[in-house]
Amino acid sequence: MRDLLPNEANQMRYIEQTARRIAQLYGYREVITPTIESYELLAAKSGEEIRQRMYAFSDLGGRRVALRPEFTASIARLVATTLRSEPKPLKLFCVGSLYRYDEPQYGRYREFWQADYELIGSGRPEADAEILLLTHDLLKRLGLRNYHFKIGHMGILRGILSQEGVPEEQQNRMMQLLDKKRWEEALHLAHALHVSERGISTLRGIFEAKGDDTDQVLQKIHQTVKGYESALEALENLREILHLVMDSQVGLKIWLEAGFARGLEYYTGMIFEVYVPEMNIALGGGGRYDHLLELFGGEPTPAVGVAPGIDRIMLAMQRQNVPTKALEGQERRVVVIPVREELRARALELSMRLREHGIPTEVELMGRTVSRSLSDADRRGIAYAVILGPEELREGKVVLRDLGERRQAAVRIVDVPTEILKGWRPPSES
Ligand code: AMP
Repeated sequence: MRDLLPNEANQMRYIEQTARRIAQLYGYREVITPTIESYELLAAKSGEEIRQRMYAFSDLGGRRVALRPEFTASIARLVATTLRSEPKPLKLFCVGSLYRYDEPQYGRYREFWQADYELIGSGRPEADAEILLLTHDLLKRLGLRNYHFKIGHMGILRGILSQEGVPEEQQNRMMQLLDKKRWEEALHLAHALHVSERGISTLRGIFEAKGDDTDQVLQKIHQTVKGYESALEALENLREILHLVMDSQVGLKIWLEAGFARGLEYYTGMIFEVYVPEMNIALGGGGRYDHLLELFGGEPTPAVGVAPGIDRIMLAMQRQNVPTKALEGQERRVVVIPVREELRARALELSMRLREHGIPTEVELMGRTVSRSLSDADRRGIAYAVILGPEELREGKVVLRDLGERRQAAVRIVDVPTEILKGWRPPSES
């Protein structure tokens, strides 16, 4: 776990603000769920990997609880209970911190932040496509470049394994291995689970079916899974999703990989992760989970979602030198500097006026000279200085200085707030 210092906190809030904007633009309503939930609920379908990494403990009432390792279980609980009769599709958004006892390393923390978008009630491929496009939109708006989507489909792998008679729990073990790219061990396990020779060679073929030529990979999967009915159905679903995304003309970069699995057990359909070339860890991941709601006592309800990881998006922005824009309302900051001690009260008074107009305003609080105060303001990226001097004040004016342009002019006090809000520029002759 770590401290986020002002610059990082600012960047994190900027990403969060953009994520929230995306939620609004796509019609996802925010919910705030508790940080601590019942251990049973969180453990139910998260997968062995995450189960073992939960911060689990007994509270003073003797209840077995844990810090949330993800949002989806909490959302599923809500949708299966309080929100069960909400009209569908139900689109929910959350953002906050999550906790996993992961091995700390680059981009992997024990406390980390996610935005989370869940689209509940539609099993149609356009819902999967929307989740992919929304993720692309978020990364694009943040200014990231060259990211690509790694996409697979759990229905293909599970379809083969089910037809081979492998029970779900053993399938989950296999998915954990695939999630770690331990293909050979996965094939050994398949042997041990009495998967037929044909099944093994089908799996081998699946692990090899990958690439950025989507139609070619789809074709290869098709040839490989012949005779596995539900795997073929899954493939058709994947084809439809991919074509919707490609035909929507947003130019998503796709890497299709049939043997790709994710650690969370609840996925049933399309799954994906998103990467930038500078980092080999995923910035976000998601997929379709059509049975999770039943598990929590809800009606059978299809659902698909994505969780962009804020910490890693932040690292990617740093790696690509993407500047963080100022947070909303922080674009034009002002410092008010009195040139004499007697003018301190006037400085406080004017600063209050500016803040009333929504202008973020600081006052020189260290008793520094104007030039020192200006260089400090400059260093901190403040846009304007308002300098209070006795001569100008006698005429009802102050000196307004544009710190970027390093030029200034006398402006009537009554006009200062509106001029700043209009993005005042000093007249060129001054
Ligand atoms: P998951 O909830 O495992 O599907 O992960 C979704 C996203 O959350 C990942 O792509 C990461 O961006 C982020 N994430 C997951 N675990 C961690 C972690 N330990 N530290 C930082 N980010 C994480």
